[in-house]
Amino acid sequence: MIADPITKAVACNLCTGCGACAGAFPDVIRMVDDPLNGRRPVVAKGEAAQKAAVQAASLCAGAGADFTSLPRRDAIDRDWGPVLAAWQGHAADDEIRFRGSSGGAVTALALFALQSGLVQGVAHIAARADDPRLNEAVISHDRAGLLRGAGSRYAQASPAEALGAIAAGDVPVAFVGKPCDVASVAKAAGADAGLAAKLPLTIAIFCAGAPNLNATEKLLDRLEVPKGARLTDLRYRGAGWPGLMQARWVNEDGVEVTSKGIPYGEGWGGILQSERRWRCRICTDHTGAFADISVGDPWHTPPAGHEDAGRSLIVARTARGLALVEAAIAAGVLVAAPEGRDAIAKAQPGLAATLGAVWGRRLVMRGAGMPVPADRGLPLWKHWLALPVRAKVSSVAGTVKRIVKTRLWRPVVVGQ
Ligand SMILES: Cc1cc2nc3c(=O)[nH]c(=O)nc-3n(C[C@H](O)[C@H](O)[C@H](O)COP(=O)(O)OP(=O)(O)OC[C@H]3O[C@@H](n4cnc5c(N)ncnc54)[C@H](O)[C@@H]3O)c2cc1C
Ligand code: SF4
Ligand code: SF4
Repeated sequence: MIADPITKAVACNLCTGCGACAGAFPDVIRMVDDPLNGRRPVVAKGEAAQKAAVQAASLCAGAGADFTSLPRRDAIDRDWGPVLAAWQGHAADDEIRFRGSSGGAVTALALFALQSGLVQGVAHIAARADDPRLNEAVISHDRAGLLRGAGSRYAQASPAEALGAIAAGDVPVAFVGKPCDVASVAKAAGADAGLAAKLPLTIAIFCAGAPNLNATEKLLDRLEVPKGARLTDLRYRGAGWPGLMQARWVNEDGVEVTSKGIPYGEGWGGILQSERRWRCRICTDHTGAFADISVGDPWHTPPAGHEDAGRSLIVARTARGLALVEAAIAAGVLVAAPEGRDAIAKAQPGLAATLGAVWGRRLVMRGAGMPVPADRGLPLWKHWLALPVRAKVSSVAGTVKRIVKTRLWRPVVVGQ
């Protein structure tokens, strides 16, 4: 029997791997990198741990998020979360722009928040130095630290593990993460005014799904990195927009070698995408509705080749997000031109259909007696109705097939 709500969220495929529960209760909940199931929390045995898990569940946006709590004035806000203003632009700093995933806007804004004194730290993820296949949550205090995290890591990462350190500290910290990470952080801050005061800025990256460690291994095979080689670097994106996927490792002569590079489309579409976790396929927020600022790719104005200089789509979602972007532009650290408030739909033309398909998938899950995230206030039904008949059928039939094929009803148990 599953006793606690955190283990249950994992077991029922509701956990996104954000790390908030482990960050809040590090003594009794720890994140484990399971090669198949993703980076997921494991709750210690004993009464104290069970009690902590019950408390941690109140931070967990994987189990459900309330979009009705967001100020929404029109259909754009209801579809994508609040959009106060949008821009397309890039970091003025050439190195940040180049190393960044799209245009380095996240890193430029985070650095500006540090330099302008808004925050004294930035919580984000970075590749682990001892094993770049894995990620760790870090708090950076300078440009070099932020550059360590620049670029997209198409892999499991739990930035909200930093919540414990933020809560225990006495300085304001900015938080950078995927939409699901930011949603849990927003939930935690909503329940704790002291924590909220220490989090004056959250930035979300757009996200279509985080692949597992098995996917990273497949990528390394495609890059022709010898099995068991000591990796020194693994880049999924960055070094231009979108940038090549490439690794570095130390060969048997002790010499550091660079692998071949493959284009983003080949790596994402051909290898990584299929290993996204089921939770990502029923995700309703790919653009960071709960953040102060969201940043994604402006795919509607595509890059010139695989290593374009880079541009980001930047969306201000709150007054404080808007103020920071405007100040960064005025200070010359962000070079950006205004876009329409409909920029998300333009840049991500398949996203409305994705949300429609999620409604169909969740319908089948409910029918099969499987729990679904208790999200409130999203017009998923509207997006499902707008789907062509074929896509409607596919969202339902495809889910039935997947439930049977992958035995999705079986509880997920994470390796210890
Ligand atoms: C798993 C994943 C899926 C994505 N899917 C989409 C998509 O569907 N549409 C789209 O437009 N863009 C997608 N992106 C790209 C993302 O939106 C870009 O990173 C964004 O444009 C920011 O670019 P930037 O150059 O401004 O950021 P940068 O300046 O490069 O900063 C990126 C920041 O993101 C953080 N980060 C990187 N990987 C992760 C991770 N796995 N978990 C948490 N934080 C991370 C880094 O620590 C860094 O702080 C995805 C990225 C990831 C990691
Ligand atoms: S979604 Fe986050 S808070 Fe919820 S169980 Fe998973 S790691 Fe913990
Ligand atoms: S698709 Fe959604 S649940 Fe999956 S990693 Fe991205 S934001 Fe999180």
